[in-house]
Amino acid sequence: MSKFDFDLFVIGAGSGGVRASRVAASHGARVAVAEEHRVGGTCVIRGCVPKKLLVYGAHFAEDLKDARQFGWDVPDCKFDWDRLRDNVLNEVTRLEGLYGQTLENHKVTLFKSRATVTGPQQVTLADGQTISAERILIATGGWPFVPEFPGSEYAITSNEVFHLGKLPKRIVIAGGGYIANEFAGIFNEFGSKVTIVNRSDTILRGYDEQIRDRLLQISMTKGIEFKFNAPFRSIEKKDDGSLTVHLDNCDPIDADAVLIATGRVPNTKGLGLEDVGVELDEKGAIKVDEANQSSVPGIYAVGDVTDRIQLTPVAIREGQAFADSVFGGKPTTVDYRNVPSAVFSHPPIGAVGMTEAEARNTLGSIRTYTSDFRAMKNVLAGRNERALYKMIVNAATDQVVGLHMIGPDAPEILQAAAVAVKAGLTKADFDATVALHPSMAEELVLLK
Ligand code: NDP
Repeated sequence: MSKFDFDLFVIGAGSGGVRASRVAASHGARVAVAEEHRVGGTCVIRGCVPKKLLVYGAHFAEDLKDARQFGWDVPDCKFDWDRLRDNVLNEVTRLEGLYGQTLENHKVTLFKSRATVTGPQQVTLADGQTISAERILIATGGWPFVPEFPGSEYAITSNEVFHLGKLPKRIVIAGGGYIANEFAGIFNEFGSKVTIVNRSDTILRGYDEQIRDRLLQISMTKGIEFKFNAPFRSIEKKDDGSLTVHLDNCDPIDADAVLIATGRVPNTKGLGLEDVGVELDEKGAIKVDEANQSSVPGIYAVGDVTDRIQLTPVAIREGQAFADSVFGGKPTTVDYRNVPSAVFSHPPIGAVGMTEAEARNTLGSIRTYTSDFRAMKNVLAGRNERALYKMIVNAATDQVVGLHMIGPDAPEILQAAAVAVKAGLTKADFDATVALHPSMAEELVLLK
């Protein structure tokens, strides 16, 4: 009989925490998980899932317009934000239920409470109850980072954006990363006047430059405004409830909503970690080794709280690897090379492997291939929007080391192509594959 209440206590029931709990339990561990918000975490409750549903909803604006060219009589359509918002939130609630069900099916004990670490093998719930566990896993994710400036309390973050009471006629979005570009596309399609404001002159740092430039150009053609090198000075709230954003190097901008999307920080504040000796980095992320173990033996961490790659599928892999290694007798580590990623902008981006700049720096001699084309659907629709596919090849080995795409369905196509990049296939392997015609993806095997 164990002297501990549980074999594993997980703090945080998001993507990483739920996977680790359920797999550890299936390996026979007695598992408890504490969640202070809602089961499902950022991805399911206020991230990837509701965002993607809004992206789908937003895309109808273009599809309905284009449908006329394809012979459909489409009356003037009106968009109802309240209906989409409520449907999306209902879907989130349904998924939350399924996540809870998964935990229950695996006999994981769920505490709907905040938990803090009060010893190397002890946690304390918000009501003061202490629980002992042989091992503790921190999977508390991240939280939106809001820079300090006067009036920042009038802004919202991605936590609140899914709950807006009404569609803002004018929205200012701070930041030039994933969330800024995704929500710029969403609100622009819904008819809001969108202005992206960034502190630098770069969007989507880390993505290939040509692909970023293409998104910028298409976004501007669609009517999204960009202000660069313009840090926020303040937000002023007027008597009618509207806002004015004051910026450095730029005229003030009037808005009905301001969305701050300036990155996310690891959620470690007030968890008691430092008190038990868990080392954090300068951003507050838990430092872990390859086995996801922190500086304190028996305390582990997975997902965004460790700030390795802030993506849901990575957190899931880390949770799985942790549970298999510690409770399944199958030591597993996560391979962080060639992790594909996507930006669900309008149009979306998909990428895997090295950018051209990274490849030049690390490999020296490379070849690049691009296809700059208008998707067949866009041609008939009269939509002057060009897709761009780019392949980076190691000149010494012919190996494809990077694929970067912007265009309709780019993430769907990229996911399949990422298998080839991960497998280390060569440009000759791509060329040897017969094209699937007519498709956009065939461009990948026809690059000259
Ligand atoms: P990102 O890291 O993508 O971008 C942050 C942006 O904010 C950058 O443009 C950066 O500017 C700017 N910024 C950073 N710090 C400051 C500051 N102190 N003051 C002003 N501006 C600042 O963050 P997001 O918030 O968009 O997204 C957070 C994370 O969530 C992403 O990194 C990603 O991992 C994940 N995510 C993934 C999605 C997906 O997979 N599709 C979708 C949404 C989120 P600059 O770089 O120019 O310095």
